[in-house]
This record gives sequence, C-alpha cells and structure tokens, in this order.
Amino acid sequence: RKRVLSGIKPSGELNIGGYGGALHQFVNMQNEGYDCYFFVPDLHAITVPQDPKLLFQRSKSVAAYYIAAGIDPKKATIFIQSHVAAHAELGWLLETQAHFGELGRMTQFKEKSGGKESFSSALFTYPVLMAADILVHQATHVPVGDDQKQHLELTRDLAVRFNHRFGTTFKVPDPIIQPIGSRIMGLDDPAKKMSKSNPNRNSYVLLEDRPDEIRKKISRAVTDSEGTVRYDWEAKPEVSNLIEIYAVFSGESVAAIERRYEGIGYGPFKQDIADAVIAKLAPMQSRFNDIVESEELLSILRDGARKAAESAASTLLKAKQAMGLLSLN
Ligand code: ATP
Ligand code: MG
Repeated sequence: RKRVLSGIKPSGELNIGGYGGALHQFVNMQNEGYDCYFFVPDLHAITVPQDPKLLFQRSKSVAAYYIAAGIDPKKATIFIQSHVAAHAELGWLLETQAHFGELGRMTQFKEKSGGKESFSSALFTYPVLMAADILVHQATHVPVGDDQKQHLELTRDLAVRFNHRFGTTFKVPDPIIQPIGSRIMGLDDPAKKMSKSNPNRNSYVLLEDRPDEIRKKISRAVTDSEGTVRYDWEAKPEVSNLIEIYAVFSGESVAAIERRYEGIGYGPFKQDIADAVIAKLAPMQSRFNDIVESEELLSILRDGARKAAESAASTLLKAKQAMGLLSLN
C-alpha cells in the first residue's frame, strides 16, 4: 500500500500557504486511501530559537488543525515527532552518510542562516532529520510545497546511497507537489513565499484569522494596474497568486476563475476570494476550538505515538544492523 508521511512545523501560526501546499493535500491523500502518517515536527521547529511555552501550545495547535481540517485519526496516524525517538536516532545514523558540502547547498539553510555564523548546527543538519522522518516510516509519497523539493531530492539521494552501501533498507520516496497551491506567495510581495516566519502580518492570512481580518488582508493584497484577472506568473505574479489561493479554497479550476472575471475588475474578485477562504476556515476554526484543549486530542496523540513507534521500529533496527551496530536480539 502507498504510504504518505508529511508534517507542518509548530514554528508559528499556520497560514493559508501551508494549507495550500500541505494541509489541503494531506486531507485529499487520506481520502484517496493512502496509508497516512501526519506528524508535528517539533524537533525541526527548534532548529531556530523558539519560546518554550509557545512551542508547547503550537504543537497542540498544529495537531488540532490537522483534525479540524479533516484528517481522521481513525484513518491516519497523527503524532508528535519528539514522541517517537526513532526519528532522531535514524537522523544520527543518516548524518554519518550525508556530506557537509551537499548540506551547505540547501537553499533553505542559506536563507534561514542568513549569512550569519550564530545559527544552530541543527539548522544545518535539518534536512537529514527530515530524511530520517520519511525513511524511518518507509514512506512512498511525500506531499510538500514547492520549497521542499530540494530536501526531498536529498532524502532520495541518502536513501539510494545508504541502500547501495549497506544493502536495501529504505524505500526511495516520491515528492507530491501539486501544480496549484504548492507555492503560495506573500500577499504583500509575490516574490516571497507566504511564510509563518514573515514579521509582516499583512503578508499572510492565518488559519485562525477572523472573517473581517481575512477580508481586510485580501482586499489589501497587492495587484497590478492592468485590471484583468489572468493567470500568468511571468507577467502577473500578484494576480496569479490570488487565482491560486482562490482555486485552492473554492476547488475551481484556474480556467473557470479566469472566465468568470472577464471584463470585471479586481474588487469583486477579491471579495469572492475572501468569501471562499472564510467558507473553508470558519468551520475549521470552530472544530479547532472544540478540540485544541481536549483530552481527546491528547489521547489521539498518545495513540499516534504508539502506532508511529511501531511503524518505525523495524526499519531503525534494520538500518542499525546493516551498518554493523551490535544488536542483542
Ligand atoms: P517556516 O517559515 O518556519 O519554515 P513555513 O510557513 O515554511 O514555516 P513549514 O512548516 O516549513 O511552514 O512548511 C510546512 C509545509 O507547508 C511544507 O510542505 C511546505 O512546503 C508547505 N508550505 C509552507 N509555506 C508554503 C507556501 N507559502 N505555499 C505552499 N506551501 C507551503
Ligand atoms: Mg518552511
């Protein structure tokens, strides 16, 4: 059976970028019958400084958003990364196979380290832990946003390298990057990815934003002066970005959206985008509020941790034995 693994870091409040590139796809893949593992990568979040109290809260929030968005704990395994020690353990084993040079070429590392020297060494080895997350569960498909393509390539390289050196141990996973919604850009600047870490609050819509806030942010989103709703990333990146957001939230095709706004300006277009976003987020928020502080959530996470630990154990053991680490069983 095809197995899916993916996650969203508890490094900030979730926004509609992560919804488009990740969460929305998670739900689709679960409903298409994949064997799904969705986790909260808290060990990845701490590669940059986090406030411990906020991190604690955000880990629960991400898990609650998974469920609120439609991930069904009866169908998918939902867990917190740090609850399953095999991830970090395999991460160490894989670090022995990853090259300093290839990690230095990761563009996310270059961006996040920002040319400074005071970043954590974990920020540098982050993609290796990500490879371990995927490989330890023998995932075959990894739904991600476009910005994770390079990390997925590294994961594949490490799997192939390990298998070649020590004998076939890992499945080589395929990234799943949807043509629409995998690259949602900032509302203030279509050259920058919409990101939790952006200090400009008008650059993103949060999953927790109230309807009036959503309307305000979308109405302020930058456009061009041409006034036509046309999908063309080269010539019209601002409008193309809004079309993608609309397509993700309405389920409509780009072509259908272009047709509907022929001869109509940006005003009604933006209002309709806001309506579509609100229609999806409002029920999600109410489910989120019901569950985020519940005992039910903790019990789902306990269950998920147990299932994930079971799934990871045999691969971790196989990898250790393949490398020649002494085992007593
Ligand atoms: P950070 O700035 O801390 O890296 P982030 O917003 O990039 O936060 P991540 O947890 O790194 O969020 O990403 C989770 C998933 O969401 C990844 O698969 C990533 O590719 C996807 N994703 C994040 N931002 C976007 C975006 N703007 N458009 C599409 N997909 C996105
Ligand atoms: Mg990111």
